[in-house]
Amino acid sequence: MLAEVARADVADVDRAVAAAVAALPAWRALAPAERARLLHALADALAAHQEELAVLEARNAGKAIGDARGEMGMVIDTFRFYAGAPERLLGDTIPVAGGQAFTVREPVGVVGLITPWNFPLTIAAWKLAPALAAGNTVVLKPAELTPLTALRFAEIALAAGLPAGVVNVVVGPGRTCGQRLVEHPDVAKIAFTGSTEVGRSIAAAAAATIKRVTLELGGKSANIIFADADLEAAAAAAPLAVFGNAGQDCCARSRILVQEAALERFLELLEPHVTALRVGDPLAESTQMGPLISAAQRDAVASFLDDGASPAFRGSAPEGPGFWFPPTVLAPVDPGARVAREEVFGPIAAVIPFADEAEAITLANDSIYGLSGSIWTRDGARALRVARAVETGVLSINANTSVRVTTPFGGFKQSGYGRELGPHALDAYTEVKTIFYATEG
Ligand code: NDP
Repeated sequence: MLAEVARADVADVDRAVAAAVAALPAWRALAPAERARLLHALADALAAHQEELAVLEARNAGKAIGDARGEMGMVIDTFRFYAGAPERLLGDTIPVAGGQAFTVREPVGVVGLITPWNFPLTIAAWKLAPALAAGNTVVLKPAELTPLTALRFAEIALAAGLPAGVVNVVVGPGRTCGQRLVEHPDVAKIAFTGSTEVGRSIAAAAAATIKRVTLELGGKSANIIFADADLEAAAAAAPLAVFGNAGQDCCARSRILVQEAALERFLELLEPHVTALRVGDPLAESTQMGPLISAAQRDAVASFLDDGASPAFRGSAPEGPGFWFPPTVLAPVDPGARVAREEVFGPIAAVIPFADEAEAITLANDSIYGLSGSIWTRDGARALRVARAVETGVLSINANTSVRVTTPFGGFKQSGYGRELGPHALDAYTEVKTIFYATEG
């Protein structure tokens, strides 16, 4: 067994919220440069513990150690980026009659952070860093399956000098502890990442107290490959864009749309990259893909093959203990099939042919989701036309990247609302206050 963790209950959530309420006045009143200094100290402390955190994350989530190291690098970079924010929370001056009007940004207060198991500390950092930089205090509820890096983070934050009560972590079930955070009258905002189903219930429950909510939810992103693309490059990049983190990625490009004229050639090029994927022990340096998070997740993923879909080709997966599922490519898939419409959250890719640019756009947008996606073509004007037409929050052209610390990330449609990362995340953790100062009479 890796670890045993005491399960929090609703009373523990209330205690954590009370600690965050108590810590708020001093934290928000701290001079901006001092809050910046503490966030830099925290980034330094995380860097000193990077390997320990990477191994803990890899073991707890079953993710490839190379990926876990990269994720911890992003955690550190996220704190460094937002350490610059306290001194850059700028307002506006607005011309008005009879005086001066200007705006300031105030923290929203105590923020509840509810996070999933697929990128545990990374997604928590996307919320923690801007929330703290803006002068809020937080209660973080990590997913019960992956609480270990969040608990270690809280210890590191305290040792780095963050005052007690500024960062609080509660490990307990979503339906009790998460729910209590959403309903708690002293919590001003919920930042949530997880399933669309739970996001919907959070938005509804938050309405009772007019809580601010930002939601990062599911996806069914399209990787659109035109016949004029560099097919070798597109085929080499496609597998990890959907099988990375064993497909348990909201940005997984699980619909590979390929122009009919290039379909056969693309599949020929894709197959060796899929069969060559190194699936195995997450702690082995060469591993590119580990197991799924749980038996329930493996069953849910396997159910997509129950519909009679026969794989075009598959990679390998170890036998024996672990929730293994080989990388699997289905082709050609009807756009109406369940695997083409629902989020799989596992290593299954559906290849869907299209005739022309108009059909590619129609198919890409034929989804309740709109989180990420890619366009591969050598025609620059087409790349830009399609990029503007696809209803999604982030897109890459001739690449499959979705997140960077410095650029906004978030969804259209039922992939959620609000933006994380980049300068925009601070909007979600501050309220704009307008002040008028009369200068006449
Ligand atoms: P869930 O939505 O089940 O869980 C996410 C978090 O919400 C967990 O901490 C969970 O707690 C908590 N939770 C569950 N029920 C409630 C509730 N009623 N009230 C408050 N909190 C609750 O998602 P999974 O963790 O199972 O992750 C898989 C799904 O999340 C996929 O659909 C995926 O697309 C989506 N996701 C989206 C991402 C994005 O950035 N858009 C990123 C990652 C995942 P606990 O599990 O401890 O009970």
